[in-house]
Amino acid sequence: MNIAICPGSFDPITNGHLDIINRSARIFDELIVGVLVNPEKKGLFSIDERVKLIKKVVKNMPNVKVASFSGLLIDFMKERNIKVIVKGLRAVSDFEYEFQMSLMNKKLDPNIETVFMMASAMNSFLSSSSVKQVAMFGGCIEGLVPEEIIPDITQKVSEIHKNSNEP
Ligand code: ADP
Repeated sequence: MNIAICPGSFDPITNGHLDIINRSARIFDELIVGVLVNPEKKGLFSIDERVKLIKKVVKNMPNVKVASFSGLLIDFMKERNIKVIVKGLRAVSDFEYEFQMSLMNKKLDPNIETVFMMASAMNSFLSSSSVKQVAMFGGCIEGLVPEEIIPDITQKVSEIHKNSNEP
């Protein structure tokens, strides 16, 4: 079976991520969306919340699974017999970092391939951090993230505002 992994922070999942997930799921037998646990970076959503949001969005995609992992991506891939990493590439800014990462992963395990998929034009400048910024300032995030998770983001943002206003 040809299994691929789409790794990232997904804090939260955006339409850009979803587009890459959709397109990769058509190419591979199985696609794992891997949420990276990064103890140094505290996100808006906890890892469990991110996994839940992604599961909600991919629930009608039978060959897509969601998991979280910590440590090296290639170790997680070895455990699950995954051979391919799929990465979305946005405007030029992603290139250098992704190039470096793919070479490092190749060095760590030469059997692994990284496949790059160009972001769709309309998602080229979309990132989780820009979505968070817009949401925190009360802007409209329709069309930026999957419809069904908008209430979760709005609720999270209002909890944060409430906590920061408490004495
Ligand atoms: P972000 O930069 O939005 O926090 P992640 O760290 O979760 O993204 O990224 C995971 C993967 O998804 C990376 O390969 C990244 O290039 C890709 N990606 C992120 N946003 C988009 C987008 N708008 N279109 C295509 N790919 C994207």
